[in-house]
Amino acid sequence: MNPVYARMGTTIFETMSARARASGAINLGQGFPEAQGPADVIDAAARALAERSNQYPPMAGIPELRRAVADHYARSQGLDLLPEEVIVTSGATEALAAALLALVSPGDEVILFQPLYDAYLPLVERAGGVAKLVRLSPPDWRITAEMLEAAWSPRTRLLLLNDPLNPSASIAGPEALAAIARFCVGRNIIAICDEVWEELVFDGAAHRPLIAEPGMRERTVKIGSAGKMFALTGWKVGWMCAHPDLSRALAKAHQFLTFTTPPNLQWAAACGLGKDAAWFDAERAKFQRSRDRLAAGLRAGGYAVLPSAATYFLSIDLAASGFGQDDVTFCDRIIDEAGVAAIPVSAFYAEDPVTHVVRLCFAKSDATLDAATERLAQYRSRL
Ligand code: PMP
Repeated sequence: MNPVYARMGTTIFETMSARARASGAINLGQGFPEAQGPADVIDAAARALAERSNQYPPMAGIPELRRAVADHYARSQGLDLLPEEVIVTSGATEALAAALLALVSPGDEVILFQPLYDAYLPLVERAGGVAKLVRLSPPDWRITAEMLEAAWSPRTRLLLLNDPLNPSASIAGPEALAAIARFCVGRNIIAICDEVWEELVFDGAAHRPLIAEPGMRERTVKIGSAGKMFALTGWKVGWMCAHPDLSRALAKAHQFLTFTTPPNLQWAAACGLGKDAAWFDAERAKFQRSRDRLAAGLRAGGYAVLPSAATYFLSIDLAASGFGQDDVTFCDRIIDEAGVAAIPVSAFYAEDPVTHVVRLCFAKSDATLDAATERLAQYRSRL
């Protein structure tokens, strides 16, 4: 086995979901919605399966989806992408893999931010890159120009940003985005920006894409996911958008990874992207209500929670909640003793972890959220 994988275990999401299935615990660990997803999009997929082609679609994606992605970003984020600058992939995960394989040469340094989505580090290392880790910490998880400069060396070629950030549910914000853009332009660095949570930004805030910052149009790979936009996480339909100088390289990596993505799901994603702003607003409002319900339930049970500006996630601050134990111990205990599965945020750190924060997924029905908070409140009162 390659040493990169030999030293890694099964992902925490898989482990916690398997334990939840085995024990019957309420699973607020892995981030997937409990609801079925939009009926018209699911119907479009079913109809396309029965009525349209099931043969290899074009390598870069069906033209309708490439255009729908470009049009959606023009409407929602004011971007000027051409359909030719959009490459459809099998989930954002494949887009990340293709972008890193295309752009990293052996020995190149890649700046990553901890907490990091679990695929980033193995992908960078398998691509031959050397990860330079920038550590972010609660409550604001802020990125500063000083942090970027401290991580830089003459071998730095890439920076991989996740914004909004999973698991912290924070957004980079205008100052950090401007600092990142100045850094990338000044140091001739290409940015890969994983924006799978872009449609789930709450409290009236607008998502700001890094690619729109001054000087970033030619040096940013913007990654998105239909799975997240339409609450259909099993679909694994994503895309990467970049200037032709970059997208030519991205397409080459993609053609030797998966080559294509199921055509019926592409048709359906294109149909979903045709929805108007009111639909996306209503989705956001629905998830925001669930966030608020989970936060209120946890607070009533004696837990302190961190702010959640985006994503499907809300975190408990164990230290502020009066727990002396670390996040892994807490998650181990609540799955067995309270019947609730959660994710320890230390799992998102490769070194020097934050150990007092636990991530919960609120993309669940009111009944599920209420049952989970009730169980956690009882657990706390028994201690
Ligand atoms: N990046 C981040 C930050 C994510 O949270 C996720 C899904 N949890 C992905 C990528 C993967 O997206 P997809 O399912 O489209 O591959």
